[in-house]
Amino acid sequence: MQKYDAVIIGAGLSGMSVALLLARRGWRVALLEQGRQLAPLIAGFDRAGAHFETGVHYSSCLGAGEVGRFFLEQLGVEVAVRACADDGYDEIRLLPTGRNFKMVCGRERLAAALAREFPAERDAIARYLARVRAAADQSAFLHAHRRGWPRQGFFEPRHGATLREVLDECFRSPELKAIFSTATFLHGAPPARVSFAQHSCIVSGMFDSMWEIVGGGRALVAAYRDALARAGVEILLDTTVTNIELAPDRTKLIHIRHGAPLSAARCVSTLHPREFFQLAPAGVYRAGYLSRAARIPETTGFFCLYAVNRGEKIYANNNIFLLPDLDFDQLQPDGEGTPYYLNFSHETPQTASLIAFVPPGQTLADRHSPAYRAEKQRTAEQHRQRLAELSPDVLRDLRFVAAATPATQRHYTGYSGGYGLMHDASHVNILPVTKLPGIYLAGQSVVAPGLLGSIISAFLLDKIIGAEN
Ligand SMILES: Cc1cc2nc3c(=O)[nH]c(=O)nc-3n(C[C@H](O)[C@H](O)[C@H](O)COP(=O)(O)OP(=O)(O)OC[C@H]3O[C@@H](n4cnc5c(N)ncnc54)[C@H](O)[C@@H]3O)c2cc1C
Repeated sequence: MQKYDAVIIGAGLSGMSVALLLARRGWRVALLEQGRQLAPLIAGFDRAGAHFETGVHYSSCLGAGEVGRFFLEQLGVEVAVRACADDGYDEIRLLPTGRNFKMVCGRERLAAALAREFPAERDAIARYLARVRAAADQSAFLHAHRRGWPRQGFFEPRHGATLREVLDECFRSPELKAIFSTATFLHGAPPARVSFAQHSCIVSGMFDSMWEIVGGGRALVAAYRDALARAGVEILLDTTVTNIELAPDRTKLIHIRHGAPLSAARCVSTLHPREFFQLAPAGVYRAGYLSRAARIPETTGFFCLYAVNRGEKIYANNNIFLLPDLDFDQLQPDGEGTPYYLNFSHETPQTASLIAFVPPGQTLADRHSPAYRAEKQRTAEQHRQRLAELSPDVLRDLRFVAAATPATQRHYTGYSGGYGLMHDASHVNILPVTKLPGIYLAGQSVVAPGLLGSIISAFLLDKIIGAEN
């Protein structure tokens, strides 16, 4: 039986980052991934002679001297980045009022642009932006590059007021509240559910700068692959973990489909926590914790359409949000209420990912049944028509080449929908440690989703393991 100091389950952004950090301790590390490639969620795919992005379009904090860049450097992941369009990285189209607003980078520029649109709320805008920064400043991990790694305070409570409460307190304009709620689509918890502190940690860096990875998700995966090879991490692709068993001497036996189990002193799961609960040995959690965790809501799901732009390049490196309702807690992600996120790549030919936010956990189960195929086709056509009505300017030259239901995404990218479990102010948070020493969790449900949240979850775990050893 192969013996390791640590076995990491799942080779997404968080699993690859954990593997790099633990290998740096001189440990023998294995990284297990059920897919046929590393990080299938962010690697993208090729179709009809074009390349399509899947799970990373842009990120904050990747500029020189910013914390995301610092994390990548610490990991030894070498990628080039490019600043998102200067005239706005997100265009927010408020459909009920017909007003469009472009989110520009730089807090002062953003405050000035918003004040021009909402002059009566100029002071409130400045106060709100300062409040977001102050809340994000509390996060030790977002300041590790300046203040050093935190020695304590790993689990600071992230509760207090919700985003909704703070928006209602600060602003009168429903349009302004909607603009500041739009980024909730990037973590999947609506304003009334997410704590203002948590939301601030996710958006604060966005107000400073937004970045695209040159070469997109596949370039990021290639850079990780090189770093993993240099670090000596053993990568086992096409390897599905079926369960984890505790041996009498407390080592962990990681059972895999079609192969001998692996033995490890430590095991880290980066799976969706509900999937980990199924694999975990008895005794990892108390029944009470599991029943509280069962009540944590899932984040928004996605129905994706992929298209090639046959006309001139448009919106390269920025995005459009189409919002059918200004009140994000009332959004009905179905039919006429569906909000959309449209991303346009830098690729040639230019490709577009058109994402409809759908109710959490919505899966069209059996991918091979005729009923599933018919339903997928019908839903794709419905979204195409709706998009053509809502933004004919953008849709004009697009040729649709693929559609992906949540079940398609599950099949190809291995992730279980949305951004994992919701970071919901009223529920228990998923912790990186379990009751059994040597069994840990990382991933987007542990800290926050996205490139940054997943990487921070890896650093958080590395610090905890470091403190234990
Ligand atoms: C459509 C979409 C767009 C996004 N856009 C952005 C963006 O622009 N910017 C940004 O920062 N973030 C974005 N995100 C979020 C970001 O992609 C994720 O937060 C991040 O990639 C999650 O990484 P992870 O490692 O936590 O999870 P995952 O990538 O889901 O990793 C878990 C891995 O475990 C594997 N696995 C599952 N079960 C098993 C098993 N039993 N055995 C072995 N392996 C297993 C899976 O195949 C998977 O590879 C987007 C996400 C989506 C879905």
